[in-house]
Amino acid sequence: MRRAAPLGAGAKSLDRGSTFQAERRLLERRKPLAAASPRRAADPPKPMRHRPRRRPATEQEIARDWHELVCRSRRCVKCGGQAGPYGHHAIRKEWMRRMVVLARHMWDLDLGVPVCAPCHDRHETKVDPITRAELAAAGIWQRLVQWARLLDERYFPGHAPVLTRLERDYPMEAA
Ligand SMILES: [Zn+2]
Repeated sequence: MRRAAPLGAGAKSLDRGSTFQAERRLLERRKPLAAASPRRAADPPKPMRHRPRRRPATEQEIARDWHELVCRSRRCVKCGGQAGPYGHHAIRKEWMRRMVVLARHMWDLDLGVPVCAPCHDRHETKVDPITRAELAAAGIWQRLVQWARLLDERYFPGHAPVLTRLERDYPMEAA
């Protein structure tokens, strides 16, 4: 087909198109056969990554467990009431996603702050944000700093974007 006498450009592309479609139809017909013999050279290469035997948890399941573990039997860092149903992400998830390598740490338990729903709302709407002093009083600030330093060392040697972000989001209160 490729060596056919040159035709007009339009006719040529039309010819190629129909050949392509014919090949596709052939490939589609061969699918069941290819599936039956897994070692065929025509098989697409297997991705070089670890394949867990069990179905990996969906993000929704991970999120549900995260909120549960962050809040269960914990007191709200602001008012001391029962925390939950949703924990607070000390660093915004959107920022973690944008930092790409940090996306996999988005559900680290170290990142979770137990809060009650009304205090969480008041934090998110900036009416009454969670402060560094409140986090420190609950013993969470030091844990967060440690977590941030580990991530900075691992992914950004010589820089400290995670710690910088944390310190910016929870500034030292003016004396
Ligand atoms: Zn509260």
